[in-house]
Formats: sequence, C-alpha cells, structure tokens
Amino acid sequence: MAFEYPAKQRLHEQLRHELFHLWIPNAVGLTGTYDWFYEGFAMYISLKTAVSLKRIRFDDMLDTLSRAYRIDRSATRRRSLVESSRERWAGGETQVYARGLLAAFLSDLALMGGSGETRSAEGLLRGLFRKHAFSKETSNGNDAVIAAMSAEPALKKIVDGVILGSGPVDRGPSLAAAGLEFSSKDGEQRLAVSGRTTGRQRSMLRKLGYNGR
Ligand SMILES: [Zn+2]
Repeated sequence: MAFEYPAKQRLHEQLRHELFHLWIPNAVGLTGTYDWFYEGFAMYISLKTAVSLKRIRFDDMLDTLSRAYRIDRSATRRRSLVESSRERWAGGETQVYARGLLAAFLSDLALMGGSGETRSAEGLLRGLFRKHAFSKETSNGNDAVIAAMSAEPALKKIVDGVILGSGPVDRGPSLAAAGLEFSSKDGEQRLAVSGRTTGRQRSMLRKLGYNGR
C-alpha cells in the first residue's frame, strides 16, 4: 500500500486474523471444509478486537458489516455456508467470508440478547476450543460446529437459515435488538446506530464497542 496508515491497518488486521487461526482451525482436531466457520469468526473477532483496542472506529466495523450484507445480497446464486465452503476455491470464496462474517456477527448478537449480555460469540468459541483442542481424535468440523451451535436455542434461526439454508441474512429484528438499523447514506444502504435507543440496546451496543452515547 502507498500510504503508511492504511498499510499499518492492513498489517494489524492480518495479524489479528492469523493469530485467531493459531487457535482455530490450527489447534483443534476438526477436519473437513468448515471454512465458513473459522474464516467468518476470525474476521468478526478480529473486527471486534480492533474496535476494543481502538485500532478502528465502531463505524469502521459497521462499514465492513454493511459491505458483507451487500455482497451476500448481490450474490447471483446464494448458497448455504456449508455449500459455499465446499466451493471456496471454485468462486465461492467472497461469499464464504461475507456470509461467514454475518453468521458470526448475528450469533454474537443472538447469544448476547438471549442472556442479558452474559454470553457472546467468544464464549461459543471457547467452548468449542476446550472440547476439541489438541485432541488425538478428529471430528468433522461442520458436524461439531453445527452441534455446538444447535445446542443454543438462540442460534437455531442462524443455523437453519444462514449456515444450512440459503436464505437472505436477517437485516431486521436481530439488528434492532442491538439498536442497529440500515439507513440510506450516499445512495447506499448502511448499517448505523438507531436514532433512538433503549437502555437494553445501549447496553448491547457498548458490548460491541460503541461508546457514542
Ligand atoms: Zn483466514
């Protein structure tokens, strides 16, 4: 990159992402093409960490999420995450990352919302890691992840609709619960903090790294 600031940002982003992979998938006994999971969650946790470390602004995270929504919406043939992971190297890669990122984001919102913010995507990852870390026996990655997520009633819609199903990713209720909504800016639909938020929504927003109000 020509300029120092974006070049450094890119380097930090890459480093956060690859550090995540030292844990998942590198240190777990999971096999098969479950790329949607470890790529999507690597991207999401990297974004969330960047906001909490103040490397990027909360708005930058919303911009990346908005872009992922646009990619998923504009796909000529939308596939389930399990299916697009199989086709990752045959043109499915952008979709794996975009839809995988959204699956991770919505899982975080659903876990937080269903638990008064005591739970989160990080907890889901820790549980999965503990169960499969450094294990001599290997399990199928898709089966293990889907089983772990299906055990959470709050994640049922995401598992059925986004991971196993090929429907559009929810842009309404899940976001509204966290005080987020789509609004039009410069002719583009962009994710933003709602004009009016309740105490509950503000509490979710703070957990995501927002410190605006
Ligand atoms: Zn990766």
